[in-house]
Amino acid sequence: MSSDPRDRIVELDKRRVWHPYTAMQSYRERVDPLVVAEAHGARLVDTRGRSYIDANASWWSCALGHGHPRLIEALRRQSERLCHTSLAGVAHEGASELAEAICRVAPSGLEHVFYSDNGSTAVEVAMKLALQYWAQNGRPERKRFAALQEGFHGETLGVTALGGLEVFRRPFEGALLDVLRVAPPRSDDALDAACAALERTLAESGDSLAALVMESVVQGAAGMKFYAPDFLRAARQLCDRHDVFLVCDEVFTGYGRTGPMWACEHAGISPDMLCSAKGFSAGMLPMAATLTTRRVFEGFLGAADRAFYYGHTFCGNPLGAAVAREVLAVFEEERVLEAAKPKAERIAQSFSEMEALPGVARPRAIGMIGALDLGASADYLADAGWRVYEEARARGAYLRPLGNVVYVAPPLNIPDADLEELLAIVRSSVEVALAPR
Ligand SMILES: *Cc1c(COP(=O)(O)O)cnc(C)c1O
Repeated sequence: MSSDPRDRIVELDKRRVWHPYTAMQSYRERVDPLVVAEAHGARLVDTRGRSYIDANASWWSCALGHGHPRLIEALRRQSERLCHTSLAGVAHEGASELAEAICRVAPSGLEHVFYSDNGSTAVEVAMKLALQYWAQNGRPERKRFAALQEGFHGETLGVTALGGLEVFRRPFEGALLDVLRVAPPRSDDALDAACAALERTLAESGDSLAALVMESVVQGAAGMKFYAPDFLRAARQLCDRHDVFLVCDEVFTGYGRTGPMWACEHAGISPDMLCSAKGFSAGMLPMAATLTTRRVFEGFLGAADRAFYYGHTFCGNPLGAAVAREVLAVFEEERVLEAAKPKAERIAQSFSEMEALPGVARPRAIGMIGALDLGASADYLADAGWRVYEEARARGAYLRPLGNVVYVAPPLNIPDADLEELLAIVRSSVEVALAPR
């Protein structure tokens, strides 16, 4: 019998664990998983002590890398005092201080914080707040949502309806809320037409809409697709004109991922509601928040039947709150956004240089995101992304593509040497994976 502990982990995994977003048959038959034992800084370490640069910050969340000493210390300190309490009729320091701290750095006008525990629920909360707001404030006919083509907002049935990625919707078609679909501009030339189409949609259907929900500027799950911030600005103006709530899903784009703290800052606008998760707790604990304006909050004041009867067991969890509060302190004191600027420039430069590689299309970058498409010429395209993944893994990076989109979204504080190594690995992995065989 083998004595490598890895064998037992993989054996139990394949017998019992149902992996997310994974075709389990081919996983069981063909995949030799990366077995992570530890992670430090920008690196994952496997059971054999081999390290891999974490190119996507572990599903876009570890904005400050793994094992940041200040976050660990905040968690340890909090765990000795209070691990959990409900937030129903209870206040605690972590939830109070975090709400104050996040509102201070939030886009203007966002003054109230509703806690939940993941990105999907942060958006689900926004949907329910919007519906109930209109139901009890004189516009009960506002029951529909508008959202973007190829948008992604998470996993619950409510936000699945908002999502515009066909492959994720298909199994649930017919069981989802009816959502109006709006196309974001995919090039500068398309901006005017996209704004005009949005204007028509709101003119025709604005009266029946509770909210327009959109990711700010970057559509992550769609394959790191960017749209012009002017489109978001137009959305703000049109939502104002038709009195429709604008919800910005900043679960991925928040916390400096695109440069500024919030991606809606590229457009110089504030939404009526903003959803934050992932970077909110820097990937340490499940923690999320939906921020709202005073107007939304005040729409729930008055008699008890106007209250928002909603709350997850772990909303405002003291451990998560302590960590999330420390995350904001680290962002401020370690000047994380400023320090990331030269790193972002290196990502942009390196991806733009990869345009010269045969088979590479549309290299693009914004903030701490770099992405490229594996071009359409190759007939073995279907598994080109997979080959890039394997090549990168052999070279010491965990670089999981989105279909044929190869991207990096590393921790914002990735050490320069790790970033250089990662960019070199991306380049050589793409080169080798696309080379004619
Ligand atoms: C990841 C993501 C979500 C869902 O967050 P979970 O924590 O996985 O539920 C929602 N919206 C966007 C834009 C995301 O990237």
